Amino acid sequence: QEIFVDLKDGNIYDEYEVRSTLGEGAFGCVKLVAHRKTKIQYAMKQIKKQGLIKEDQKILFSEMDILRLIDHPNIVKLHKLYQDNIHYYMITDVCQGGELFDKLASEKNFTEKKAAEIMKQILSAVTYCHERKIIHRDLKLENILLETKNSNSNIKVIDFGTSRKVQENEKLKLKIGTLYYMAPEVFQGQYDLKVDVWSVGVILYILLCGYPPFNGDDTTIKKKIQKGTFEFNDTDWRSISQDAKDLIVKMLKFDPQQRITAQQALSDPWIQSKAPNTPVQA
Ligand code: ADP
Ligand code: MG
Repeated sequence: QEIFVDLKDGNIYDEYEVRSTLGEGAFGCVKLVAHRKTKIQYAMKQIKKQGLIKEDQKILFSEMDILRLIDHPNIVKLHKLYQDNIHYYMITDVCQGGELFDKLASEKNFTEKKAAEIMKQILSAVTYCHERKIIHRDLKLENILLETKNSNSNIKVIDFGTSRKVQENEKLKLKIGTLYYMAPEVFQGQYDLKVDVWSVGVILYILLCGYPPFNGDDTTIKKKIQKGTFEFNDTDWRSISQDAKDLIVKMLKFDPQQRITAQQALSDPWIQSKAPNTPVQA
């Protein structure tokens, strides 16, 4: 793999100083590091080579391959890849504000303005990916990070471990993702880019009321999604605008062909009126 800088003549710690641990992933831990020469801080995802089975290696390389080609302000940027005999190292932008999941947990729900500002950035990132036929497949609150600790921080999408580049009209079969956010057609094993729009619709719903539209134990969630009906509970949704609800309904359309695209959601009246000053780069 020539995409890696080979460290056989040196040590990763000669280049980067480890400051703290940012999180734990399925493949290994993510550390906050500082580049010794420039003092710039990055996140370093460290993956042990030993014990990595073929399938995991495939997932890993597809994440690296896709991230390498992506350049968008709302998607975590991959700066460099290293390897030594023991590990692979992915050096990416660091997001000091943590997961959107934790931010929401501490605030219960967001105002419509705040939710729209976040949505506009997520949709901008997803539109960028979809224009390049890249499907993320695991969009959820845990995979959206806040760039800084400021209350008006920008957001960045992470975790392209489940992403894939698809061909025109290609349908995917693999049942993958996180149950709360999974589109109904995923269970039928015949789906495309539109599953990301569904997941972002679920995110929007949660941002506004604090709980998911399809809730319960695993079997119940699956049943509810496959029925495709959800509700706006009166007490929780009374004070939320009809425009917000309309957008959710358009993103959670059961039939993927009737579901709006990420691009259409981005130019939706609710997004435009509530977050007019959030810049879009698609
Ligand atoms: P995995 O694919 O193994 O789940 P992730 O890429 O999702 O790994 O990273 C695991 C966790 O580490 C994330 O949920 C997040 O809390 C933290 N993390 C990952 N990347 C960054 C980053 N660039 N900045 C800050 N924290 C990060
Ligand atoms: Mg993850």
